[in-house]
Amino acid sequence: MAFDIDMIKKVYSNMTERVDAARDIVGKPLTLSEKILYSHLWEGKPTKALVRGKDYVDFAPDRVACQDATAQMALLQFMQAGKTKVAVPTTVHCDHLIQAKNGASIDLQHAISTSNEVFNFLESVSNKFGIGFWRPGAGIIHQVVLENYAFPGGMMIGTDSHTVNAGGLGMVAIGVGGADAVDVMAGMAWELKFPKLIGVRLTGKLSGWTAPKDVILKVAGILTAKGGTGAIVEYFGPGAKGMSCTGKGTICNMGAEIGATTSTFGYDESMERYLRATDRADVADAANQVKEYLTGDDEVYANPEQYFDQVIDINLTELNPLLNGPFTPDLSTAVGSAMTEKAKKNDWPLKVEWGLIGSCTNSSYEDLSRASSVAQQALDKGLKMKSELGINPGSEMVRYTTERDGILEIFEKLDAKIFTNACGPCIGQWARYEDPKNAPKNSIVHSFNRNFAKRADGNPNTHAFVASPEITAAIAIAGRLDFNPMTDKLINENGEEVMLSEPTGWELPPKGFAVDDNGYLAPMADGSGVQITVASDSERLQLLTPFEPIGNDISGAKLLIKAFGKCTTDHISMAGPWLRFRGHLDNISNNCLIGAVNAFGKKTNFVKNQLTGEFGGVPDTARAYKAAGVKSIVVGDHNYGEGSSREHAAMEPRHLGVVAVIVKSFARIHETNLKKQGMLGLTFANESDYDLIQEDDTFNFLDLNEFAPEKQLTIEIVHADGSKDTIKVNHTYNQSQIDWYNEGSALNLIKKENAA
Ligand code: SF4
Repeated sequence: MAFDIDMIKKVYSNMTERVDAARDIVGKPLTLSEKILYSHLWEGKPTKALVRGKDYVDFAPDRVACQDATAQMALLQFMQAGKTKVAVPTTVHCDHLIQAKNGASIDLQHAISTSNEVFNFLESVSNKFGIGFWRPGAGIIHQVVLENYAFPGGMMIGTDSHTVNAGGLGMVAIGVGGADAVDVMAGMAWELKFPKLIGVRLTGKLSGWTAPKDVILKVAGILTAKGGTGAIVEYFGPGAKGMSCTGKGTICNMGAEIGATTSTFGYDESMERYLRATDRADVADAANQVKEYLTGDDEVYANPEQYFDQVIDINLTELNPLLNGPFTPDLSTAVGSAMTEKAKKNDWPLKVEWGLIGSCTNSSYEDLSRASSVAQQALDKGLKMKSELGINPGSEMVRYTTERDGILEIFEKLDAKIFTNACGPCIGQWARYEDPKNAPKNSIVHSFNRNFAKRADGNPNTHAFVASPEITAAIAIAGRLDFNPMTDKLINENGEEVMLSEPTGWELPPKGFAVDDNGYLAPMADGSGVQITVASDSERLQLLTPFEPIGNDISGAKLLIKAFGKCTTDHISMAGPWLRFRGHLDNISNNCLIGAVNAFGKKTNFVKNQLTGEFGGVPDTARAYKAAGVKSIVVGDHNYGEGSSREHAAMEPRHLGVVAVIVKSFARIHETNLKKQGMLGLTFANESDYDLIQEDDTFNFLDLNEFAPEKQLTIEIVHADGSKDTIKVNHTYNQSQIDWYNEGSALNLIKKENAA
């Protein structure tokens, strides 16, 4: 069973009651986002008005989705929770660990042979604990979720930042770290700060070369990469209704690029059409019964300035195709001459080497059909492709259907590489160069979402520009970054001037979707007999051992590193080549804090071992302290742990014997992750005490036996010369989080409660 209609009907029956109650309590009309949030409160029926951007609220999401890179640690942790089954419907999708190089069939086999151990592990854990498993090649998590699981008015979380894509089908869908996913899978509440709301009113109609992608490229240009932080972006207006459901998915997908918590659209006929086309007529019927609850109240959309924290207006009729980049997705340039000037000024290569179409952002049937209508013109008008072309369909269903309908054949006739239905070039899994670090400066255009340096091919000199699939196809034909298909002529093989006509396509396949094997494996009804094997000498996977409680006697703890300046989760637990160790805590711990700048000497991964006086890497030094039975401390600056929500950034120091992280301020998700792993996340009561910390310091906690909510802790710092400073530190632990600390981790506590 791909989806659970009974669960969806239950959500809808709760929704009517809870939204009515929320409207009474709040005393005003509600946006769609508020309706979904208020109807998913952990406590059930709302009892008080929640303050946007301020209140931390417990929610009960309907679903969880995990991709293969993040699922490894999430499932390893879930196995610690002592549960026999996941508490909410959950799926695992194998899409990130598949390289793009030679084309789908060879690349998929290569991935299966190199990551078989990981795929087998994910499959058997899924089978055991009632999790739906999508095999390698089945598709990209977010396209598969949209096709199978997303439903209007639902709430889901996923261990990937582009989980937000499901807003295209009217969900509130949010990307989280593995530890959050584990909480929900284990039947616990999930906490989120009640988001602010940004309304985007869409008027007019898309036409010609302009596509839904241009809407979000425009919004990114307006709001910038941080403008959506802490907010849900809700799209509405006549322009929204005129857009396909998958187009809405594209817009919501790239909400991650403006830092938004998520984005969403109200239920409309495009969503109903998509649900029926993807074999979910019963979901459409159920949604139709409650459709006024699945969109914002009329008054909200009539006077949005009164109900949203910020309102943006976009007239789709006036919108032109955009190219965003390079190196950041919010740098917008209109296609054509504006790019000529900018590229010359900034020395961006105008020649385009590759056009890439696909990724979870733009790999729907509509996307591929419209892009193929442009590609077909190269064949019909005698144009030779000036750039190479790569396609990665979003799912096996899209691939199968587009192959049946002759769409893929058009690309193949142009010598395009059809990559696996997987992330591939979107996540640096594009084996484009032997030596990417020293590869030449070049430009590429793609229909993906992110274009940070090295993101696609590992080459820091690749200038990647984000565009719609149709514009990507046109630019790949022309081979020039500043090509404007609306005004520019091309010379064909006969020396004639030709122009490309506007793209055409189908929102949904005229003959319906089809697929032979969609790649889904349903879990066994009773998985208790499934054995999970992880080889003891595996370098990719390692079963977790529960963390021992740290206890309330911390004395003689040594400073491991005093991080200077910015210290994000990437500095604490680097990505890139370390991705392969995401399921092996001990191996990935060898990247622990190697990107953090040591305040003493201002070097990275170079700290003093106080036991020997020698200098070495952070992980080695931490391991030396741990081996000697000495606890260690990390000190940091402001906003320590900002960036991704990956739990590895908390688990690694915990694994290496760090007992406390003391900083000027935390990024909240990382602070919570430290708490979940049973460590101390503390802030200097007096910020300037950061300056007291010296390289050879020893820490004694004086009153940890009185650890209680809203009570400061006292630490004695002993310096190398024997002098001492006594400082106060603050914490935000509530009693249940103190219980996590006392038990060694949140998971230990869940397990204990489960066994009781
Ligand atoms: Fe992430 Fe790209 Fe994969 Fe989408 S296609 S899930 S953005 S890596």
